[in-house]
Amino acid sequence: MNIHEYQAKELLAKFGVAVPAGIPAMSVEEAVAAAKQLPGPLYVVKAQIHAGGRGKGKFKELGPDAKGGVRLAKTIEEVEAHARDMLGNTLVTVQTGEAGKQVNRLYITDGVDIGKEFYLALLVDRATSRIAVVASTEGGMDIEEVAHSAPEKIHTITIDPATGLMPHHGRAVAKALNLTGDLAKQAAKILEGLYAAFLGTDASQIEINPLAICPTADGDKLYVLDAKVGFDSNAMFRHKDLAELRDLTEEDPAEVEASEYDLAYIKLDGNIGCMVNGAGLAMATMDIIKLNGAFPANFLDVGGGASKEKVTAAFKIILKDPAVQGILVNIFGGIMKCDIIADGIVAAAKEVNLSVPLVVRLEGTNVEKGKEILATSGLPIVPANDLGDAAKKIVAEVAKAA
Ligand code: GDP
Ligand code: MG
Repeated sequence: MNIHEYQAKELLAKFGVAVPAGIPAMSVEEAVAAAKQLPGPLYVVKAQIHAGGRGKGKFKELGPDAKGGVRLAKTIEEVEAHARDMLGNTLVTVQTGEAGKQVNRLYITDGVDIGKEFYLALLVDRATSRIAVVASTEGGMDIEEVAHSAPEKIHTITIDPATGLMPHHGRAVAKALNLTGDLAKQAAKILEGLYAAFLGTDASQIEINPLAICPTADGDKLYVLDAKVGFDSNAMFRHKDLAELRDLTEEDPAEVEASEYDLAYIKLDGNIGCMVNGAGLAMATMDIIKLNGAFPANFLDVGGGASKEKVTAAFKIILKDPAVQGILVNIFGGIMKCDIIADGIVAAAKEVNLSVPLVVRLEGTNVEKGKEILATSGLPIVPANDLGDAAKKIVAEVAKAA
């Protein structure tokens, strides 16, 4: 689960991380009121969408010459004009895809002077099963590009969970960022806050880009200027306050609906809808569809105890995708018996008025009974004997129907 930049910064501030003052705004009036509460003389108006690259992004409605989704303003009037420009319009960035994302929220922050920009992230390193800190002097830009063109500029430090964060980790991060003296201390303090936030919220990712040296009247200060925070969705049950930060308008509507039925659904780009029980079998089904020259329209694991209601909901979600030209159901009846699943498929197919070819492969307990239910249903369901047979059949059926 991801959250907006303003939510991430408010959260990190609670863990003692230095962020510039800022106030979220849902309307032009709120943006103006927010700016009036900030000290000035520089303000930043920031579009809040769950995608990065906003600064270099373009608004669909404003043409190629207009500024992006992160804009500096020197007066309250400029804040107002930028807010008017952004709210309700569609921001396209390298991370949103061509469709872009509608901007419904803004974050008005105190504008700081920037001396140098760094990159700092915490994530779960699957190879070592540890939290890894990734630090680079090449902040502000696309880190994937840095990883490609200058990998030696990216430093990774892993943290042993047995010791947790130690002072030497802070020193290692400061060294990676070429920081000494007071700035090195500030970097260590920020790392402490980020690490505590990561553990305390069951985060899966905290990405700061940029972490910036900002010259102030009080000397150089390190500030988090942009923050992307993602949580482990499986742990959200124990963070009710964080779960409330979820912004459903930022998520794929089909994926949101699927999550309501406890279905693991991920939309993909192909034309063959898949309904499978078990994540491993779902992956194998997607592979074998590709092996037969077609592409899956989704990943969908209906889980071990797929009920009729779940199967119906799954059919409806798959069919909402206009790209779907055929459905492959691949179910292994273990805990669930095949005849119950077949009943569910028949009822669901009738209820949704199925208009695309449907190939069903059933295997497991009561498989003969299940097959008979499908065969006598009066529906044009194509039975398959095994996984390879099922994939071949659905690809052929879709080609025939086209
Ligand atoms: P992103 O484009 O979505 O990654 O959004 P960021 O929040 O990272 O902002 C993009 C860029 O805007 C940053 O890399 C900074 O260079 C600049 N920026 C953001 N906040 C400030 C600020 O307070 N002052 C100044 N001078 N620049 C800022
Ligand atoms: Mg950024």
